[in-house]
Amino acid sequence: MSGTTILVADDSPVYRKLVEQAVSENAWTVCFANTGSEAIEIVERVHPAIVITDWVMPDLTGIELCQKIRADRNAAYTYIILLTSNAEKENVVKGLSAGADDYLTKPFHRDELLARVRVGERLIDLQRQIEAKNRELEELALTDSLTGLPNRRAVESWAPRLLSGAARHGFPFWVVAIDLDHFKSINDRFGHEAGDTVLKRFAEILKTNGRKSDICGRTGGEEFVQILTHAKQAEVGLVIERIRQQLMSEKFLLNGAEVTVTASFGAAGFCGKTSPEFAELVKQADAALYRAKHLGRNRAEIQPVVLA
Ligand code: GH3
Ligand code: MG
Ligand code: MG
Repeated sequence: MSGTTILVADDSPVYRKLVEQAVSENAWTVCFANTGSEAIEIVERVHPAIVITDWVMPDLTGIELCQKIRADRNAAYTYIILLTSNAEKENVVKGLSAGADDYLTKPFHRDELLARVRVGERLIDLQRQIEAKNRELEELALTDSLTGLPNRRAVESWAPRLLSGAARHGFPFWVVAIDLDHFKSINDRFGHEAGDTVLKRFAEILKTNGRKSDICGRTGGEEFVQILTHAKQAEVGLVIERIRQQLMSEKFLLNGAEVTVTASFGAAGFCGKTSPEFAELVKQADAALYRAKHLGRNRAEIQPVVLA
């Protein structure tokens, strides 16, 4: 492990020098603060992984520094080691309660200080690994949290596999792009929460109208997609019509007002041995959807199936 930044906050030049000597042989970047406020300024600017702080400084106590560092919940974790003199030992409890991770009494033992800094380094390293893993998991999460439907990532990972299955076994594969009509005005008139209610209900309608082998997902704000397989053009038309009718007949009670919501649909399909890219079919479905919007919304445009 290298490159760890350590801040040493101590108003005593002697102790700053002692700590400097102790840590200097390691591949750490060390910075120094002579006062508490200087320490805070450096913490905010540099975000050191480890802070070794004196207990009593002229302007600020170690407790206040700990509290200040812990108050920023968005910052990466900082490992704090308090340096106290023996006489202040009753304050150790206070310091640990205020957010310090460890303490050392002055005069400290050089190797003990180094060992404790390394403990902090291990903890910070673990913390970073967890954060990286969490980011990865968030990215890989396949479910849209509002509706519980698969999200765009999920659709884009599953659909191409289904599409190659369609080419191999010769069954038809359809992409239906769906977009709620004038949805911005629902939000504008009734608020974002009311809009969310509509999105959730529409997701239910999509789910209950699909077969087990079909995929439906929320691909954007008020944009959904449905993948239908083993269906002829006329059957796709019927499925879409059922969904369109069901949404239209739904009476949404939004802030006391009864509201009707509609959606537009664009479908594009493929049947044959050489499949286009999934993205190409999505593009065609989007173009059909655009036509449906242009022709007055609350309707479907179905692109004739591509035979390849
Ligand atoms: P069009 O008929 O042309 O599709 O009009 P539109 O208003 O639906 O289209 P536009 O793309 O202009 O607006 C989409 C709106 O969807 C804008 C945004 O406020 C809303 N929206 C996007 N994501 C969410 C969400 O998660 N929740 C809610 N409530 N609204 C959302
Ligand atoms: Mg819309
Ligand atoms: Mg849209």
